[in-house]
Amino acid sequence: MFKALVVEKDEDSGKTSAAVKDIALEDLPEGEVTVAVEYSTLNYKDGLCIGPGGGLVRKYPHVPGIDFAGTVEASEDDRYKPGDRVVLTGWRVGEAHWGGYAEKARVKADWLVPLPEGLSTKQAMAVGTAGFTAMLAVMALEDHGLAPGQGLVLVTGASGGVGSVATAILANLGYEVAGVTGRPDSADYLKSLGATEIVAREEIAETVKRPLESERWAGCVDAVGGAMLARVLGQMKYGASVAAVGLAGGAGLPATVVPFLLRGVNLLGIDSVMQPYENRLRAWKRIAKDLPMDKLEAMIQPATLADLPQLGADILKGQVRGRVVVDIA
Ligand code: NDP
Repeated sequence: MFKALVVEKDEDSGKTSAAVKDIALEDLPEGEVTVAVEYSTLNYKDGLCIGPGGGLVRKYPHVPGIDFAGTVEASEDDRYKPGDRVVLTGWRVGEAHWGGYAEKARVKADWLVPLPEGLSTKQAMAVGTAGFTAMLAVMALEDHGLAPGQGLVLVTGASGGVGSVATAILANLGYEVAGVTGRPDSADYLKSLGATEIVAREEIAETVKRPLESERWAGCVDAVGGAMLARVLGQMKYGASVAAVGLAGGAGLPATVVPFLLRGVNLLGIDSVMQPYENRLRAWKRIAKDLPMDKLEAMIQPATLADLPQLGADILKGQVRGRVVVDIA
């Protein structure tokens, strides 16, 4: 038997509840590789899967945790052998398939990535889906021509998981970073990650009044979506790109097409879940190289399985700063 955070649903009331329970190896879903999980983390989606489900969880009882890192314990696939250090993000693990909030996880070999040299399992989970996605966003902006020296790069939802890692990576690569935050007390934190300018959420949250404003941003990693993304589109420099990552501020996009037509602005969609293997490897290698580990350390909020029900509710309210790292082992 081993420990897991198990979410159950009361069929009559439709309410879910999460608690740490003992489960057996036979309870795990099918898969070629069994991993002894050392660390997991908390993303916005985990908040949904620990709590209301958000249409992501298919079946109860459920073990959430969309990310994990650990050591292979048993493998029926030639690519992995016991003792290999691995990381998993995405593929709907922790949503449709049982995830990383357990001492053991069983998954498809295709979903795993070998941990790159120089990253510990703990650091990999300080990165997690949020940081991995931040790296994908930076790579997409670079692939579309962003380079240091072009001006300020905006990061929205800056003190969240995606925003914190994007800020640290961009600053380390030599970009000037402006972070949008709704929490004035996050200013020092964001500056410590390398942001040179702090933009108050209210300043940029209003609905679009004019389709084009003064050109301000050379690039943008957007974790917020909604009215803020619409507004930012009209403030981008000529030919600049926005990587659309999240919807913390809403799924709507009350924008006009004018920034695309008159300024050649690009809106780049970023998906971390179904990302092909080669690009995953590329992103994890870039993380090991371009994300300063002392900055990553400063983002970590340690937690245990038992803390997750509360932290899950907190992240849905936008009250978690940086990256929660869950010590499972
Ligand atoms: P967090 O909750 O850690 O961060 C989100 C941040 O957005 C908050 O910290 C807050 O930052 C800001 N924010 C919250 N609510 C609002 C609001 N109403 N208006 C404006 N800003 C707001 O989440 P993550 O960083 O883990 O994820 C961010 C988003 O990215 C989520 O929507 C998530 O679902 C999505 N995501 C998408 C992925 C993909 O594959 N495309 C992968 C990972 C995440 P502050 O306090 O500084 O203002």
